[in-house]
Amino acid sequence: MKNTRLRYIAILSCLLYFSISTNSQELKQSLNPPQYNLASPTELQEELCSIPFDNHEREAFMAKLFIQAGAKPEDVQKQPIDISEQPFHNIYVVKPGKTKNIIVVGGHLDHVSVGQGIIDDWTGACAVTNIYQAIKDIPTNHTIVFIGFASEEKGLLGSRAYVRSLSEETKANHKVMVNLECLGAGESLVWVNGSDKELVDKLNDTAKKANLPLSEHTLNGVGADSNSFRAVKIPAITIDGLPQDKFSFIHSNEDKCENVNQKFYYNSYRLAVNYLLDLDQINNSAINTDEQPKKP
Ligand SMILES: [Zn+2]
Repeated sequence: MKNTRLRYIAILSCLLYFSISTNSQELKQSLNPPQYNLASPTELQEELCSIPFDNHEREAFMAKLFIQAGAKPEDVQKQPIDISEQPFHNIYVVKPGKTKNIIVVGGHLDHVSVGQGIIDDWTGACAVTNIYQAIKDIPTNHTIVFIGFASEEKGLLGSRAYVRSLSEETKANHKVMVNLECLGAGESLVWVNGSDKELVDKLNDTAKKANLPLSEHTLNGVGADSNSFRAVKIPAITIDGLPQDKFSFIHSNEDKCENVNQKFYYNSYRLAVNYLLDLDQINNSAINTDEQPKKP
């Protein structure tokens, strides 16, 4: 009888302890929700200006930045995009979400031989690793793929290889692609005739809510990695920071660190972080692909 009572008391205390410790954990979580870990403007600028010139070395540098942002080395994936002896690779990290629905955020790693390829498009690829840093500990509904595409300048080869590698089922789970291209020469812009309208509307909402500058512009005769996704009916959008009067910077000796405005670049970075978190909240059935863009 005594033994039974003791055992009963012991079980009761265990249950009580378990329930208190669980409650205190929950309480701690609600008092300290996961924080955005935004990079500072100085950090961004340093990472932007220390990029190597060689396109293969850039892949290793992007992997390094993902690890610096908090990824485990084994979580950084390399996807070869051709079968040559020294293939180029897409470099990416996947942040698992609560559902199978996928958002891709990307920029391109490579650059042409003229200029340093900082604006076009290390600004995009470098922002991708820092967006990962900002939201990696925030629970998301969507699984998010953070990716640097190889060989965009040779005809969107990296993004084409990525979409080609998807099974029909995985492709259907891809709900949105956000492409970051040529940021920081001016304030944020959206390539309105190369992006799906619902995504442009949503981006305008985000910018208004976050009090960040955003304008729309129309560009003809250009290509971007978002095209590869739209070509297979995955809704996509390109955010850039290249106003008409700065076009001459691209593919020229003016594509250098000094021509990236730190404030504009930081605003685009924050816009992209806010946008991804807003996209994560939307009901995917609300997004439809509108008409396809012209091939680059
Ligand atoms: Zn580019």
